[in-house]
Amino acid sequence: MKIYKFGGTSVGSAERFRALIPLINDDSQKIVVLSAMAGTTNALAEISSLFSDDRKREARQKTEELRAQYHTTTEELYSSSTWGQKAHDLIDEHFNYIIELFSREYSRHNEKRILARGELISTAMLHFLLSEEGIASALIPALGFMRIDKDGEPDYFYIRENLRRELAVTGDEKIIITQGYICRNVYGETDNLRRGGSDYSATIIGAALGVEEIQIWTDISGFHNNDPRYVEKTSVIRFLSFDEAAELAYFGAKILHPSSVNPARIKKIPVRLKNTMEPSDEGTLITSTSTYEDYKAVAAKDNITVIRIRSDRMLMAYGFMRKIFEVFESFKTPIDMITTSEVSVSLTVDDSSYLDEIVRILGTLGTVEVERDQTIICVVGDFRPSRVGSAPEIFEALNTIPVKMISYGGSDNSVSILINTSDKVGALQSLSNHLFPVA
Ligand code: ADP
Ligand code: ASP
Ligand code: MG
Repeated sequence: MKIYKFGGTSVGSAERFRALIPLINDDSQKIVVLSAMAGTTNALAEISSLFSDDRKREARQKTEELRAQYHTTTEELYSSSTWGQKAHDLIDEHFNYIIELFSREYSRHNEKRILARGELISTAMLHFLLSEEGIASALIPALGFMRIDKDGEPDYFYIRENLRRELAVTGDEKIIITQGYICRNVYGETDNLRRGGSDYSATIIGAALGVEEIQIWTDISGFHNNDPRYVEKTSVIRFLSFDEAAELAYFGAKILHPSSVNPARIKKIPVRLKNTMEPSDEGTLITSTSTYEDYKAVAAKDNITVIRIRSDRMLMAYGFMRKIFEVFESFKTPIDMITTSEVSVSLTVDDSSYLDEIVRILGTLGTVEVERDQTIICVVGDFRPSRVGSAPEIFEALNTIPVKMISYGGSDNSVSILINTSDKVGALQSLSNHLFPVA
């Protein structure tokens, strides 16, 4: 069994839907995990935000615009009136559901229900298309098995049991389709795995079933050595280790959801990144093996806040760090980077939901400074302690950019550097020029 995950652009139009057929229609057993059509989740998020601002007339108008777009796509997609009509009815059912929600109060749960429509529609569209083509497939509901616990972590016991139950009631179809991104939370309500979460759905399902391979199909031929949205002349990395890929995903490489490598890493399931537009390109293979190169890739994570705590009492004191960490722990706020000196500690967080409370309590331990709009640049490569020379090319590349923090030695395969977000694009380009010179 394999998992095939297709992202938004891979189901972004009638033509793209049709292009999936030769990719999935062979004799092997597979679970196809789909995202919503490109742009849909953004549109649904905008609709939810209008709803939450009590701008229901505009929310309704935007919903009708999106409904019309879907009707246009389905008219193009299906050649028979039977399947065209089924798709038409399905779309109306989902959009009427959204319109009906507007007659209620806005709530976070209603927002999650709206956001779930994109994947519910795209999966049914593919199922109908395959049926029209006479290709057997089964559609199983992610809301019937995908679940997170009170900490937002996958509830593997529940997922495994219920996924098996869902699979047991399918026939002998080779293609099983399900929704990415959406799940139920600990209260059984509709929820999601955060933006870009379909990658995570694919690896969670893969890990729960212990599959032989997870394929992530997207709009680019694999993991690039720098962010192609900001940097020119990036190139594909053929092989990455789980640890390297996990660092890059966590530190901002949008091609993979930040948490998505972990389930595959724990179960040692190879992850292959492929391009739906260029299916014969080899892409990237992520496995347990590292090929150790000086520099492999660079990624950047924005919306970072740095917090500096300075206390003369820290000098020679034990227990000071514990007190600081306890504050973050009590607000369930993870720390990304940390550096210390004799009298001060600097650390970064990307979740600033409880920042005011955290800063107030830290204020009892010392003087606290906060700076927002920071970016962590993560360079992945060979930083094993045996390496000679502390990556001089990185520091050369950044010699005109104010560096706020450096974390070196915490990991064998990455170095993190904190800079102002306004310096990000320059830093990424300069790192590319120095670390990956193109002849
Ligand atoms: P999907 O909708 O298929 O999940 P995403 O937009 O989430 O696709 O991810 C693919 C995009 O990630 C690429 O088009 C590219 O712009 C962006 N990206 C950012 N960093 C990288 C990287 N290091 N390698 C490849 N793509 C990257
Ligand atoms: N459709 C969701 C999003 O846009 C999930 C995904 O694409 O992975 O965030
Ligand atoms: Mg994505």
